[in-house]
Amino acid sequence: MQMPIQIKQMIQENTSLRPYNTFGIEVHARFFSRFTNAETLQDILDAVKQKTSAILVLGGGSNVLFTGDVNGLVVKNEIGGIQPVAEDEDYIYLEAGAGVNWHQFVLYCLENNYAGVENLALIPGNVGASPMQNIGAYGVEIKDVFHELRAFDIQDRVEVVFDKAGCEFGYRESVFKHKHRNRFIITSVTYKLSKKPRFNTSYGAIEAELEKMEVKELTIQAIAKAVINIRSSKLPDPNIIGNAGSFFKNPEVSAEKFEELKEKNPSVVGYKLENGNVKLAAGWLIEQCGWKGYRKGDAGCHAKQALVLVNYGQATGKEIFDLSTAILDSVYEKFGVRLEREVNII
Ligand SMILES: Cc1cc2nc3c(=O)[nH]c(=O)nc-3n(C[C@H](O)[C@H](O)[C@H](O)COP(=O)(O)OP(=O)(O)OC[C@H]3O[C@@H](n4cnc5c(N)ncnc54)[C@H](O)[C@@H]3O)c2cc1C
Repeated sequence: MQMPIQIKQMIQENTSLRPYNTFGIEVHARFFSRFTNAETLQDILDAVKQKTSAILVLGGGSNVLFTGDVNGLVVKNEIGGIQPVAEDEDYIYLEAGAGVNWHQFVLYCLENNYAGVENLALIPGNVGASPMQNIGAYGVEIKDVFHELRAFDIQDRVEVVFDKAGCEFGYRESVFKHKHRNRFIITSVTYKLSKKPRFNTSYGAIEAELEKMEVKELTIQAIAKAVINIRSSKLPDPNIIGNAGSFFKNPEVSAEKFEELKEKNPSVVGYKLENGNVKLAAGWLIEQCGWKGYRKGDAGCHAKQALVLVNYGQATGKEIFDLSTAILDSVYEKFGVRLEREVNII
């Protein structure tokens, strides 16, 4: 491989990706490099001539499952910085580098009293991946505060800007997840935050937690604290036990299908959607099939959260993937409902 000496030093070969994925899966990348700006990224791509399909960008590695070595180039996005780019009486527009840790971005907004992301506190990962699956929690999704993003088009080697419509956001979906998979490297995201907060406490256990905290005056900081408390008590910490959060999406079924399920299973959990369909709790379906707490070798289904698959230490990605397939099959057999994986399988 012929390349300028400076860039050559930045590129490692046969690198373990274990430190870079929260599942803690041991696989190797043929080439690995970090970048902190778009120019360096271009230099790296030029130096390691790889097909578009052989280039993988990583943020915090908290939503990927590696099922084998990556026979190509893995680039770790470490573009930093948060800056205001526009402002009016009601809103501020903040552009954040794709490598900024998501929770650090939330903390920045809380410190400055910019509202809109408080319900999304403590979601692992980086800013650059937030549009990828339209991250969401506690009744809020990134699309609610998204303004635009900048990305590098690996195929055409140009910078492009996507507005909200261009991202085609859906439930844990965007154009980047399937249609344009591996084509764009997001370099920054601009969010539209409100200077006049509208609180959203109706979802999940937020209100109960606020009461427990004896909050007198509702603020975005109090909501974030409540969300942090709930998340810390419910979700396994990837620093202690390997996982990527919810492994499956909550499936959507027709109202008729829901009635049919309810007749046979009176305790089935579902939320009515605006389109008339019903969203089922995937965790409930998995639990009913007896998977909660299941463990084979080091691959398992978490004992408190059936939606979360875990690596107790030395599980391979294939073992976790096979477990997910067994779960998908058994849920389909028992309920006639097809679950879909939320985690990106690499
Ligand atoms: C304990 C736990 C709890 C979680 N809770 C939630 C939750 O409540 N809600 C939720 O939505 N998610 C949740 N997740 C999933 C995860 O945190 C999010 O999906 C997060 O946005 C992933 O960010 P990341 O930087 O780690 O992405 P990575 O895992 O590094 O990458 C994920 C995907 O995005 C692509 N990608 C990453 N960066 C870029 C970029 N700059 N440009 C283009 N593509 C890119 C990657 O190629 C990969 O396909 C949770 C995960 C864990 C471990």
